[in-house]
Amino acid sequence: MFNRLVGKKLALVDDTPGVTRDRREGDGSLFDLEFTIVDTAGLEDAEASTLAGRMRAQTEAALDTADLAVMVIDARAGITPLDRHFAGWLRAQDKPVLLLANKAEGRMAEAGYYEAFALGLGEPIAISAEHGEGMADLYQAIVKHVGLPPEDAFEEEDKSEPTPEEVAAAPLKLAVVGRPNAGKSTLINKLLGEDRLVTGPEAGITRDSISVGWEWQGRPVRLIDTAGLRRRARVTTKLEKLSAADTRRAVDFAEVVVLLLDATLGLESQDLRIADQVLQEGRALVIALNKWDSVENHGELYRGVARALEDGLSQVKGVPLIPVSAATGKNLDTLLKAAFEIRDLWSRRVPTSRLNDWFAAALERNPPPAPGGKRIKLRYITQARIRPPSFIVFGNRLDELPDSYQRYLVNLMREELGFMGVPIRLNFRSRENPYAGKPRR
Ligand code: GDP
Repeated sequence: MFNRLVGKKLALVDDTPGVTRDRREGDGSLFDLEFTIVDTAGLEDAEASTLAGRMRAQTEAALDTADLAVMVIDARAGITPLDRHFAGWLRAQDKPVLLLANKAEGRMAEAGYYEAFALGLGEPIAISAEHGEGMADLYQAIVKHVGLPPEDAFEEEDKSEPTPEEVAAAPLKLAVVGRPNAGKSTLINKLLGEDRLVTGPEAGITRDSISVGWEWQGRPVRLIDTAGLRRRARVTTKLEKLSAADTRRAVDFAEVVVLLLDATLGLESQDLRIADQVLQEGRALVIALNKWDSVENHGELYRGVARALEDGLSQVKGVPLIPVSAATGKNLDTLLKAAFEIRDLWSRRVPTSRLNDWFAAALERNPPPAPGGKRIKLRYITQARIRPPSFIVFGNRLDELPDSYQRYLVNLMREELGFMGVPIRLNFRSRENPYAGKPRR
């Protein structure tokens, strides 16, 4: 159901009862209705100190923030004592409830559907989440509770570039990646300030990647955690491969990616590969050196990692490196501040006149080479895109421009135009085709 409404495979589909363990949020839609949907663990009546008890606490917390609760039963299995228990609990809450009888395709569900009336939650809505049946009925029922969406909700999305103010107001989309045991779950829990991702000694507890919304100093943040994906798949697949897939998923989602290193282990080649992948994909990167509380020789360690990064990530100078302790919370404010700041840089547009003044000066200081005695001419630069900042240089004989000169331009741009630590894209277009690189604006 969650997958159908969110429209992508976010939740795990598994036939084992209780496989959904954490609270998961997604932006869902049903025709022209848009909503946030929270998928919760089951509601076992369990001791608060047990895993099941913590899961119940999460369900209660999710219900607290909801406008509408949806209880789903398996109409093929019929009503179970647990369903009765859930229904009783839901009836006692002060929330509107819809009852969905799922797996209702075909005749096998008929008896279960009629039984469901006995739960006292009104007329059940027969659906098949898998086959997409009953969605119009579900729509009607939701609208009855929350009202129709405004008329203009269906208008085409405005695709224009966000202004700096719009960037600053939008939730920071943040992902935390890193090797297993770097402390990703600990970090996210600490940031959220509540026990929302269930961490604990139980192995493999984070079963899926999870996106959660939250605020940092009054500014909205959305976090995705991919630890669970790795844990889940580790059984069968090689570590390197998984890491790449995780990172890809995080990168798809995120504006800023936090690469978490374990300071007790230092920087390893796998970390550099992840960092490189993030930058290749054009995302902003912040590196956090975790477990700072349990290492000594802070100065020496920091300088060592900074140097190794400088060598290993030479294509992007100045990626922020921040020592933190996910366990104690030390420096997490600095980390978030750095993430917001680098998003601003990553989203910046340099006015064309300023850009070209800079460009002329850069060419004068270090003119492009003249292979065969004929100088390569670079005439003009424009910023085609933001997020990541992407530029087009116009000129002649550009296919002869050496890589070293391109690197010179990109590095200088980073230092002098305020793009430290940000991946930059630079394209070259010959004058012969002046429209090839026409910016979108
Ligand atoms: P994940 O696999 O990246 O999600 O890592 P976890 O969050 O599960 O943490 C792995 C282990 O490192 C756990 O035993 C944590 O308690 C420990 N850990 C995480 N952060 C810190 C930290 O800042 N300091 C110390 N000393 N231990 C930490």
